[in-house]
Amino acid sequence: MEISLEQILREKLGKEIADASDREIYIALLNITKEKMKDMEHNYGERKLYYISAEFLIGKLLSNNLINLGMFDEVKEILQRNNHDLTSIEEIELEPSLGNGGLGRLAACFLDSIATLGLNGDGVGLNYHDGLFLQKFVDNKQSEEKNPWITENSWLIKTDVSFEVPFRDFTLKSTMYDIDIPGYNRSKCNKLHLFDLDSVDESIIENGISFNKYDIYKNLTLFLYPDDSDEAGHLLRIYQQYFMVSNGAQLIIKEAEEKGIDLHRLHEHVCVQINDTHPTMVIPELIRILTEQKGFDMDSAIDVVSKTCAYTNHTILAEALEKWPVYYLEKVVPQLVPIIRELDRRVRDKFSDERVYIIDNQERVHMAHIDIHYGYAVNGVAALHTEILKDSELKPFYDIYPEKFNNKTNGITFRRWLIHCNHELSDYLKELIGKEYIENADNLVKLMDYENDEKVLQRLREIKKDAKSELKKYLKHTQNIDIDENSIFDIQIKRLHEYKRQQMNALYAIYKYKEIKKGNLPKRPLTMIFGAKAAPAYTIAKDIIHLILCLQQLVNNDPDVSPYMKIVMVENYNVTKAQKLIPACDISEQISLASKEASGTGNMKFMLNGAVTLGTEDGANVEIHELVGDENIYIFGKKSEEVIRLYETGEYNAAAIYENDAVIEELVDFIISKELIRIGDPENLARLYKEIVGKDWFMALLDIKDYIRVKEQMLLDYEDERSWSKKMLVNIAKAGFFSSDRTIAEYNNDIWHL
Ligand SMILES: *Cc1c(COP(=O)(O)O)cnc(C)c1O
Repeated sequence: MEISLEQILREKLGKEIADASDREIYIALLNITKEKMKDMEHNYGERKLYYISAEFLIGKLLSNNLINLGMFDEVKEILQRNNHDLTSIEEIELEPSLGNGGLGRLAACFLDSIATLGLNGDGVGLNYHDGLFLQKFVDNKQSEEKNPWITENSWLIKTDVSFEVPFRDFTLKSTMYDIDIPGYNRSKCNKLHLFDLDSVDESIIENGISFNKYDIYKNLTLFLYPDDSDEAGHLLRIYQQYFMVSNGAQLIIKEAEEKGIDLHRLHEHVCVQINDTHPTMVIPELIRILTEQKGFDMDSAIDVVSKTCAYTNHTILAEALEKWPVYYLEKVVPQLVPIIRELDRRVRDKFSDERVYIIDNQERVHMAHIDIHYGYAVNGVAALHTEILKDSELKPFYDIYPEKFNNKTNGITFRRWLIHCNHELSDYLKELIGKEYIENADNLVKLMDYENDEKVLQRLREIKKDAKSELKKYLKHTQNIDIDENSIFDIQIKRLHEYKRQQMNALYAIYKYKEIKKGNLPKRPLTMIFGAKAAPAYTIAKDIIHLILCLQQLVNNDPDVSPYMKIVMVENYNVTKAQKLIPACDISEQISLASKEASGTGNMKFMLNGAVTLGTEDGANVEIHELVGDENIYIFGKKSEEVIRLYETGEYNAAAIYENDAVIEELVDFIISKELIRIGDPENLARLYKEIVGKDWFMALLDIKDYIRVKEQMLLDYEDERSWSKKMLVNIAKAGFFSSDRTIAEYNNDIWHL
């Protein structure tokens, strides 16, 4: 007789389930799941993909693994019967914050979809012990603390794979850890390989997140992208990047040789996807290994590697495209410098346009240029983004290699961003249209049959209301803030960056506050929710957080205002928080300056959970707009062509807008008003005020009035329950395109050919 899961759990615990603590149950479930995955075969095939990324923002894994392995419902039921609740058991798991934001989360969604499509592909990255910092709010400011996640019982599996990684002054020996990646409803697994160093020592962390940046032996994999505001920080980043790609390259060669592959045909058996420029050194590193150790001449090494590697671009912000001084590389990895110089020489032989050189006249290596010349595919991450790359940012390259450029609009895994985070909605969808949509996302359009079905619309409203009540409880419990579940939940959660324009949303909060003060009371209260971490050295971003926290204190404690409006800044925004916030959202804020957000994926998560987008024509918002139509999205602001033109002519003048518009002037002046100065830090607020009036590089003042106008309209439209819930329905129904299963199928058809 087969033993039941309940018996297995009881045996693992060594006691009755009802008598076990949440922690004991978590550990037992973790181990049961790990054992199950250990017995599963790896996906196989003629070709294998290595997805190399400095970030994998995987989030907590227990529930997702249970869902993909088909065990979730049974576990939930067993626990319920034994007086336990899976939600509180999930609380025990620490979130591995191995990423900053969208780019890292994308890599994690991709691993889920690659496994779900049964493709032979593994992730390669670093095992940061503390990942991204833990954010705390102290005196209305962000403070950073370490964020350890590796405990005695974790998802990591130590392997005996180890490589020697040669740096200029020493050689380090790596250890490879694996995390199993099960596909949804599949009998096979893939792996995420995370490389680490045994000598890393958490005790060198001093107060907050500071540590000795020179002690590479002890700090190499301590943090994700440690503060790079000085040279030691930059060098540490190069150490990390090389450590990652050298291990990756050695793993690729080792596995190819074990399979008996002729390395001259490596490209027929292997493809390497380079996620943004952080893993670029894998190109010269593979060339180095082939020439120094495998008897290749330079021509054939370059030829094979160029047919193996493909590059994904994630940004058009010039400051985000990595350029390393040759002199830094000389200090860390001098063995790559002659290879990079040779790659540059070949470019210079062929092309006269200096803009496509790899090494510029200031002796800086443009990492993206290596990827484009010596990779076989270059992709952007949304239709508009790819067009901007071709037309402006990377135009000189597009003119040379039009055939390499292609678009792969980002996606999200529905297993995490619907099935896991919103059971009530996903169960209802199953009832209405069957469960096929979980693996075949296009089936969601079947929901359109119910567009005018009042019963269905009402149920969607109830589900949203339940999610809002859950979030209310969660915020009370975690931050002791009271919000009203009958208010409109307006949510902006994403990394803090001026181009994402949280400052513009804060100016709206000021507008609303002043309106309420004047007696213009809204029909229904508004709850404005923010969540964002700022890079520790990004001063203005931190000043924006400070402004929002000061507004939160002012608004929530003003008895005239707080019945009509609340502001909540959620502490330590991460995947776990995102999963709690997204199902509860009415208005999804996607308000980046047009042309600046490559794609966005938060926008897709919200749409899938029945929120209506308030956004600019930027990134994937453009595609959301096309799918749902004008009726079901709120678009405002200047278009990308106009914004690009303003940058080219340099004619944008924030001070002139401020001086010539009394409404805007009043809003901006409030940043340094006596009300806010009393609460906040005058120096920080004044700095932000000056930045907005004097520069406003990402043009918040350009769109603020249109933003206010459209947002006000949206709040009014919310009152028509029926038409609003129809918008919700259409958004869910049209979200199928944004499944990362679709994105991965496209990568596979056009680039990987697995
Ligand atoms: C999805 C996600 C992001 C990306 O959000 P954008 O709005 O696309 O910038 C960032 N952080 C976390 C934790 C996420 O889950």
